[in-house]
Amino acid sequence: MLKDVAQTEDLCRQLPQLGRLLDGEPVRALLDRWPREVVAAAARHVLDEIRREVLDGLLNEAGLQARLRELDRAIAEQAQRTSRLSLRRVINATGVILQTNLGRAPLSQTAIRNMTQVAAGYSNLEFDLHTGKRGRRDDHAEALILRVLAARGADLDPSGYAAMVLNNCAGATFLALNSLAEGGEVIVSRGELVEIGGGFRIPEILRKSGAILREVGTTNRTRIADYARAITPETRLILRVHRSNFRIEGFTAQPGLDELAALGREAGVPVFEDQGTGCVVRLAEIGMREQSNWIRSVASGVSLVAASGDKLLGGPQCGLLVGQCRLIEQMRTNPLARAFRPGKLTYAALEATLLAYLADQEKTLPAIAMMHITAPELRTRCQTLVDRLEASPLEAKVVPVRSVIGGGTTPGAVLRGFAVALRHPAMREEYLLKALRQMDPPVIARTRRGEVLLDLRTVFPEEDEALAAELVKLELTA
Ligand SMILES: *Cc1c(COP(=O)(O)O)cnc(C)c1O
Repeated sequence: MLKDVAQTEDLCRQLPQLGRLLDGEPVRALLDRWPREVVAAAARHVLDEIRREVLDGLLNEAGLQARLRELDRAIAEQAQRTSRLSLRRVINATGVILQTNLGRAPLSQTAIRNMTQVAAGYSNLEFDLHTGKRGRRDDHAEALILRVLAARGADLDPSGYAAMVLNNCAGATFLALNSLAEGGEVIVSRGELVEIGGGFRIPEILRKSGAILREVGTTNRTRIADYARAITPETRLILRVHRSNFRIEGFTAQPGLDELAALGREAGVPVFEDQGTGCVVRLAEIGMREQSNWIRSVASGVSLVAASGDKLLGGPQCGLLVGQCRLIEQMRTNPLARAFRPGKLTYAALEATLLAYLADQEKTLPAIAMMHITAPELRTRCQTLVDRLEASPLEAKVVPVRSVIGGGTTPGAVLRGFAVALRHPAMREEYLLKALRQMDPPVIARTRRGEVLLDLRTVFPEEDEALAAELVKLELTA
């Protein structure tokens, strides 16, 4: 034991000193490529790693010498790793169009151009070009939001409605609850006390907003009479939460939004729906059962509706509140509103997205276009990729798949298409999956029964060639 300690100390003494390492060749050559502190941090990291391995008894004299001979390469790799951008473009081959972990909706070319222009210079973000006075940032999108809703069939009286843009739908819901119901009661069906994702749970958010939860009905059945009975002088709001990420089937009941709206009007209590998806397209066109829809929600007569900008609307991450002017005004004057306001780039992308709907050009929005890709189109692209991989040790074939839109938008609904199923004779599927993630750009895929599936629905057609080229190269390193 004592001898081991002495030996370990002896090995550790052979590690070079950081200062000397940086001044000596060949590490000094790395200083041409990276700033000194980056190389120093990388060298410290690598030395610490080797020291730990020595202390853990994982390296003997020969092992240590081998590591020291490779020292400059290890430091260069570590420096490279730490100076690369962390947030990077990836190829989404999961087939999930609104994959939350992969950033949900990709933006249209027009939205990107608009963002670039606004980002590169100054803009009239809060400046009224007409009067030359201070303006509001919401002015840019408000009229467009109401016009899109009207153009797509929500028969609104534009003078009675207003709209507001926030960072996301979660923020919109919180601000609405805090502005309209702090200190009072909010009536919610027990079937809607849901978790939306990422720990955003309605009962907790309600509590944080300062409102008191008044549960009615049961998990599967809530009737309009349950709501009516729960209304007291303390009631500030009736809340409806769209079940966007799950479905309940069987012996169920839930009043329609219009019934809730009528009850609210009668009782003088505003009705707020957290609608979520922001959907303004007809999902029936792509063979999906009609789900909740932003237009119908706003048209139902409820007082206020919250939706996301980057789900089925296909725009940038933001929250959209549409409702009676009086209620929107209450939210605008809430001192918390500033904490939820988006930056200028969001407005730039949102305006372009909304204009696409007004021009009937929504298929220029990638998320909408991806929903409309047909199975035969996918099969052709998959076959091209399979042909490209003919000489590769990867076994590839075209297989039918079902994919989902994702992002908590259309539970239970599937899109039929095709994918390329990959197998490597010497590699288990999870290693192949990992190898794909290490490609440049990284490719994110899914596995099914021992195979890796590349679902091209979410791969941009112009990425097909780069994907094929990278996969062909993969054989060399596998
Ligand atoms: C997705 C969703 C949210 C959260 O939206 P974010 O924009 O991600 O904050 C809130 N409510 C419902 C009903 C949703 O579907």
